[in-house]
Amino acid sequence: METRNYVRRRQAAKKRKRKRMIRRVVVAALLVAAIAAVIALAVWIISAFIDRNTEPKPQDAPVSVTEQSSEPTVGTETALTEPTESEEPVQTEPETEKETVTVTAEDVKKGILILVNRQHPFAFTADYELIDLFTYKSSAYKFRDDGMMFAPFASEKLNEMLVDFYNRTGNGDINIISTFRDIETQQRIYNSKLEYYNGNVETTEKWVALPGASEHHTGLAVDFGIYTSDGESYDYDGSGEYAWINENCWKYGFIVRYDSAKTDITGIAYEPWHFRYLGLPHSEILSQTDFCYEEYIAYLKSYPQDGEHLFFTSYTGDRYEIFYVRSEGEKTEIKLDKGADYFISGNNDDGFIVTVTLHGDS
Ligand SMILES: [Zn+2]
Repeated sequence: METRNYVRRRQAAKKRKRKRMIRRVVVAALLVAAIAAVIALAVWIISAFIDRNTEPKPQDAPVSVTEQSSEPTVGTETALTEPTESEEPVQTEPETEKETVTVTAEDVKKGILILVNRQHPFAFTADYELIDLFTYKSSAYKFRDDGMMFAPFASEKLNEMLVDFYNRTGNGDINIISTFRDIETQQRIYNSKLEYYNGNVETTEKWVALPGASEHHTGLAVDFGIYTSDGESYDYDGSGEYAWINENCWKYGFIVRYDSAKTDITGIAYEPWHFRYLGLPHSEILSQTDFCYEEYIAYLKSYPQDGEHLFFTSYTGDRYEIFYVRSEGEKTEIKLDKGADYFISGNNDDGFIVTVTLHGDS
């Protein structure tokens, strides 16, 4: 009996001990779990705080490559507005809201950046009204005629450039000899040049674009001559003090369209008097490369909508994002950040060039 009772007591005592042990283990485990949870929470809070303080805001745009050097190639960067994929799933940075702009097949042939040449004739579907350049008549320059029509935004910049030239030099002899031409005018010029070259088509077409293939149809191209106060007329060759115009026209949105080194691509002889309006930033980007416009249009295709975009900071301080969208036929969708300040132009070839002005505080 005694022995049996003793054994029972021992067993009961053992049981209690085991229960105590289990209780202790459970309590210890709970404690460890609680501590781990507190540590995890602390780490999460600290890392979230650090991230918020170090992640660059879209406005804190890193300085562009082009700001640091005057390399002819245009600086490219990864998209600034696209927040880098965060490792922290806790980040609640909202995706920039997008809007979709739909453009049509016909829109490929419209816009101030269209390429116009023999392979890409003008479709005569401009989406801007021309104005009479005579509106800006001043003593800073002359006109061969009144009724010389030109795109309004380009007229304003042309006037600004020629007034600046006049203020620098006191030379008011620039004569605007040709702006917009309709197809009949181009045909007339072509015919008379053909006659002048005794029917030599090849030579004629080096100097005069085929009707329909002239940039003058767009109301974005202008030819200068020189007309002195003595009533003498000269060709404008962009030399001497006039060189300032050819060297600085990009600031006003113009390019010297037919370069002497690119006649094999443009098909047109060197014409230092022929200026084409593209507007900023495109005239400026072009001025930093040795591309002719045909090459520039091709170059922009290497910045597609779904790929790396071209970023550029102008001398004005304005910052731009540029990309190309291939036309998908009757309807093409272009995705932009909601509220973006942009313009879309057809390239008159196979797609669209989108130019976004980035407004930041940098
Ligand atoms: Zn011309």
